[in-house]
Amino acid sequence: MKYISTRGEAKAASFVEALLAGLAPDGGLYMPQTYPRFEPATIANFAGAPYKDLAAAVSAPFIGDEIELPALEEMIAAAYRSFRHPAIAPLAQLDTNLFVLELFHGPTFAFKDLAMQLLARLIDKVLGARGERATIIGATSGDTGAAAVEAFAGLGHADVFILYPHGRISEIQRRQMTTVRADNVYAIAIEGTFDDAQARIKAMFNNPALRERLNLCGINSINFARILFQAVYYFTSAGVLGAPARSISFVVPTGNFGDIFAGWIAKRLGLPIDRLVIATNSNDILKRALESGRYSLKNVQPTQSPSMDIQVSSNFERLLFEASGRNGEAIDHLMMQLRQSGEFSIETAPLEKIRAEFDAYSATELETTHEIKRTWQDAGYLLDPHTAVGVSAARKLPSSKSPVVVLGTAHPGKFPGAIAQALGAPEPPPEALARLLKREEKFWLLPNDQAEIEHFIRARSAQPTQTAHER
Ligand SMILES: *Cc1c(COP(=O)(O)O)cnc(C)c1O
Repeated sequence: MKYISTRGEAKAASFVEALLAGLAPDGGLYMPQTYPRFEPATIANFAGAPYKDLAAAVSAPFIGDEIELPALEEMIAAAYRSFRHPAIAPLAQLDTNLFVLELFHGPTFAFKDLAMQLLARLIDKVLGARGERATIIGATSGDTGAAAVEAFAGLGHADVFILYPHGRISEIQRRQMTTVRADNVYAIAIEGTFDDAQARIKAMFNNPALRERLNLCGINSINFARILFQAVYYFTSAGVLGAPARSISFVVPTGNFGDIFAGWIAKRLGLPIDRLVIATNSNDILKRALESGRYSLKNVQPTQSPSMDIQVSSNFERLLFEASGRNGEAIDHLMMQLRQSGEFSIETAPLEKIRAEFDAYSATELETTHEIKRTWQDAGYLLDPHTAVGVSAARKLPSSKSPVVVLGTAHPGKFPGAIAQALGAPEPPPEALARLLKREEKFWLLPNDQAEIEHFIRARSAQPTQTAHER
């Protein structure tokens, strides 16, 4: 399988090239050149299969012969071994036709583990086979950094540098990064916001000399492999609920549009999905874009669902690319407008295509708090604030016969403040999170300064290109 860029300029890449680069050299996002398609009979056979088997079946056609199937299966098995639930992603029922897909049974208690555990092993394996080292860099508002640190800690061929905004993430999220003991992992607090952290990372990627010298690799959801591995749980959950005979609707708490785009991919692969519902907090750029056709930036408002406090939904570019008939030139133009004026208009034809498959609802802070309380009282089920935004959206959907699955993106124990606010009393954190509160922290505090951050990373990454040349 070859991968092409949404901006149409970069040359086609192999799976491994797209995996190691993350972002395409023209600034675009990699997309598969074609989509494999699973027949209904195949999807029927998927129903009830172990998660690991489906992860291999769904991802193998995208990887082709670049990684041998037995090696892929071995990495999949290792990736999900640390999960606390045998089903990996079990369903919980809240009401008639209303379900939560629990994606928080991995080591860091948020859905990012499902793709990151596998991504880290794949990257490490490929680097090892090539005799290379890479420098993994990322910015985080909490969950991505925790998942990356946990997944890459102790792996042999990569050094990991995660930038997070000092004092602006939750204590548990911070401790998940700062209490991991591994020589190849660096949690860097910067004196700035998440947007500053992301700007520092983007500037590093836009510096070709640095990119080459450090063999930079990006692990945000711009990396197509992450999206691919997230498509798997749409298949497992739909199978349990009767697909392909029944079609299923999914509601996805959305920030960077990665998780819900994985649902769109699952649909392209043949899974009968009825509606794909974007659920946002008050940072509702996607809802406004679907309604008005204008994608227009506003300031980020901090909410109790911080992992969705995002202004630029990077993966929306992938959907625009598909909806515009894969017109890379048009996408390049829209992204230039966004950089210059902070907004762009979506043309009528692609907008109608998007509206035919997606709905969008947003929840206010008050609605989120009410939803946590209501679901606790009615169903005895504790929602984290991100999943609560999703359940709130699910209740706003026009009634239909298809089951509605809300993606449960984080464990409530990760957000004790929001739970205490909704229920009037804090919920004691799970043992594994409580343990973090006692461990010693290690992190580096740096100013929000490009040169200082680059100097720090260059001094500590193990000179990957030199290693590659000495081989
Ligand atoms: C990352 C995250 C989201 C948003 O997912 P995207 O793929 O960025 O849309 C939602 N909820 C939680 C808990 C997250 O960590």
